[in-house]
Amino acid sequence: MEEDLRRNPALLKLELFCRGMRIDPSCERLDQDGRPILRTRAGLGSGLELVLPGGLWTNVPVKEAFATRSPFALAHRQGRYVIERGGEEIAQVQIPAAPAFYSRTTSSGRVMSRVGVLQGTYLAVYPTGVCAHWLREPRRNCAFCSVGLNLGAQEDQEKRVDDVVETALAAREELGITYVHFNTGYYDGDTYLDELEPFVEAISRRTGLLIGVQTPPHPDLSRYRKLRAMGVNQVSFCFELWDRAAFEKHCPGKAEKVGLDRYLEAIRYCAPIFDTTNGEIVAGLEPVDSTLAAIEWITDQGAVPTVCVFRPLIGTDLQDHPPPEPQPLVPVFRRLFEACMDKGLPLGIAPNVNVSIILKPEECRWFVDDPGRWWHREWKAAVMRKGLEGLLAMRRARAAWYRRGHS
Ligand code: SF4
Repeated sequence: MEEDLRRNPALLKLELFCRGMRIDPSCERLDQDGRPILRTRAGLGSGLELVLPGGLWTNVPVKEAFATRSPFALAHRQGRYVIERGGEEIAQVQIPAAPAFYSRTTSSGRVMSRVGVLQGTYLAVYPTGVCAHWLREPRRNCAFCSVGLNLGAQEDQEKRVDDVVETALAAREELGITYVHFNTGYYDGDTYLDELEPFVEAISRRTGLLIGVQTPPHPDLSRYRKLRAMGVNQVSFCFELWDRAAFEKHCPGKAEKVGLDRYLEAIRYCAPIFDTTNGEIVAGLEPVDSTLAAIEWITDQGAVPTVCVFRPLIGTDLQDHPPPEPQPLVPVFRRLFEACMDKGLPLGIAPNVNVSIILKPEECRWFVDDPGRWWHREWKAAVMRKGLEGLLAMRRARAAWYRRGHS
């Protein structure tokens, strides 16, 4: 594996996730040049969006205390943005501009940046009320989660279906997005799919975009066949921690109301149904061996692990917890790629979906000595990506036809 950060952008992405970055005073135009920093998700997406060499979209922590002590700094030199370490240039980076649609309003008068947020090159929407774990007395939210701090402050809590459709269409027209990702928290009575389905149905029918859904696992697993029939391509289940004691400690609401086994059962059930099923975990809050065991189990089911690097967000219960060191996580991301390849899981099949808040499994080929030995797997994924591009074109044409008034 290439150890030089100047030649290994995935390793640099991991370093930035773990160490954050300072902003040099030379970046005085950054507010005008870049996207605003918007916190919208359960623990990530709080940083500055930039694109590393190799096209690796990265959301870099810049506000947290650990980031202010980082060896890395973003600087503006001779018209270029660069990442420096100890005054030495490590990489030239691109700063994606704030999208124009962020300041547009929907027909009901809502500002679009308060309806959905770009994370990398897809639109992330949290369309329903705040997670019930935040509302209990005492709070039982996940310790790393910032959802209860964000909603209402930067995003509108209850988003009408038309607002979401209009925002997705605006993002597609301006930036060619292909994918909308819906996320909810937990609601008593397991109503999260009931609340989400009108949004899913409308996005599928009126935009034709690919759709991902991330909710707690519904006890009635047949609901996932219904979601698939509505046009959902991907589902994601965040069980966060494989070690049961760590799961109960850091995710008390999930442990009490759902339980780890229901997450695992949903992953097992959904893997053969959807284009991609993800099991999402957090690295850095449990021993590396535990994270590796989770990767093994998820990939054994035919699902793809989403491995987030723990980020101690300001205002969360773990804001004073240190972020993980990058080097012990290298074997985690190496195994992530190897396990997906060994087990024939297609990676990177959704066209034009760049994710900034995690290391995508396909990006982890940078951690492997000879990734070319799985050329046949990567070739198969490229063929599947072409197939999804064709599907997307058909769905868009059908959606345009629908919007013209046919049903
Ligand atoms: S389930 Fe946990 S991570 Fe998800 S929104 Fe609720 S408190 Fe946050």
